Amino acid sequence: MTRVVLEGAAYVVTVDDTDTVLRDTTVVVEDGVITDLRSAAAGPVDADETIDARGRLVLPGLVNLHTHLPMTLLRGLAEDVDLQGFLTRVWAAEGAVMDPATVELGATLGALESLLGGCTTQLDMYFHHEAAHRGAVAAGSRHVIGPVFMDGPGPDGLAWEERIALMRAWPAAMAAIGGPAVPVSAMPHATYTCSPEKLAEVVATLREVRGEGPGLLTTHVSENAAENTDVAARYGATPTEVLAGAGWLDGDLPLVVGHGVHLSPADRERLAAAGAAVAHCPGSNQKLASGALPWEAVHDSGVRLGIGTDGCSSSNDLDMWQAMRQAALLARLTSGRPDVASAHEVLRAATLEGAKALGLGDEIGSVEVGKRADLVVVDLEKPHLTPVHDVQALLVFAAGRADVTDVLVDGQPVVRAGRSTRLDTPDLLARARERGATARAAAEAS
Ligand SMILES: [Zn+2]
Repeated sequence: MTRVVLEGAAYVVTVDDTDTVLRDTTVVVEDGVITDLRSAAAGPVDADETIDARGRLVLPGLVNLHTHLPMTLLRGLAEDVDLQGFLTRVWAAEGAVMDPATVELGATLGALESLLGGCTTQLDMYFHHEAAHRGAVAAGSRHVIGPVFMDGPGPDGLAWEERIALMRAWPAAMAAIGGPAVPVSAMPHATYTCSPEKLAEVVATLREVRGEGPGLLTTHVSENAAENTDVAARYGATPTEVLAGAGWLDGDLPLVVGHGVHLSPADRERLAAAGAAVAHCPGSNQKLASGALPWEAVHDSGVRLGIGTDGCSSSNDLDMWQAMRQAALLARLTSGRPDVASAHEVLRAATLEGAKALGLGDEIGSVEVGKRADLVVVDLEKPHLTPVHDVQALLVFAAGRADVTDVLVDGQPVVRAGRSTRLDTPDLLARARERGATARAAAEAS
């Protein structure tokens, strides 16, 4: 048995059912599972590894519910354009450089950025998913990904049958890579890039290949108004209605819709009835001028709300602290009400609700005995975090990535004292600079 102990945390923000905040508490982790939350006054616990959490705060690992990790290499290549302009430029760069080795490099870089900033789980979507998964798992992430589907050849140049074959091979490929447990996932890009018949084929194939194990569906839905117009012209339906027609809302598989900015009230009702979740990406939505998700309407409709950064070619970082803050600020600005999107609600969306959206709510998302230990330690010995009055408000409105000192994923310390325990960071950065230069040349030629 391996025991890791986070000793004497000043605060443990559990995000349990009643939002309990524990004071002066030692967190005991045995073989990856939280086995005890005990008073620090009871004295030290023998451990294989002890992390000094005195004067610090422990919270559940943040869950990024919508991202494209390998796009770290394309950060800044498509600025000051809308979604459609962005896609044109980015697809040119992707076609030129995104082979499996480059995707693995970009995913490793993205996972490292995520982990150093306290984000332990990412719902990722990218071509060459197997390479991306290998990279993110090597960094130490709980990384959820699966084959991407689209009608055309896409940057990877695959035919449709080859994509379906990748889906069939994915459970075994995922098991061979290892890493923390995640669902088998299928990821058509969107209803404007994947026909209704093909969407139906994807869900049928996923049902088949996941067997008794957990599965997950995700795609981009109603990200901006132009997308809704485009889909209405093709099918006389909203993207959500297209998904419903393709058997995506039958409720037997967790479904995460990326963005969902322009869902109609009827769309929201349908998604709620199916137990689906929206991955709200306020940074990307603001930067691409896609619109403002109506937080309260989505929340009240019963659709689960999680938070994502989107790929950092569109939102430029994978910072879940910024995403939490932007979610709260945008919801308040657009509703004209300061009591909308409370810090409690936003922190919950970025942790437990994200975990539930992935079907991992019993495993992760809160600091509770019996759960897997995906944990983040925040240093409170900072001017901007002192004194502590409202701990959730402090986390959402004042804390940031630079305050994270240590990170556990599945009980493994993957970040210690602000550094990766898994990767040769200078080497990784040197390789990323080199591939980034090639991507820039392709985007500029587009
Ligand atoms: Zn996206």
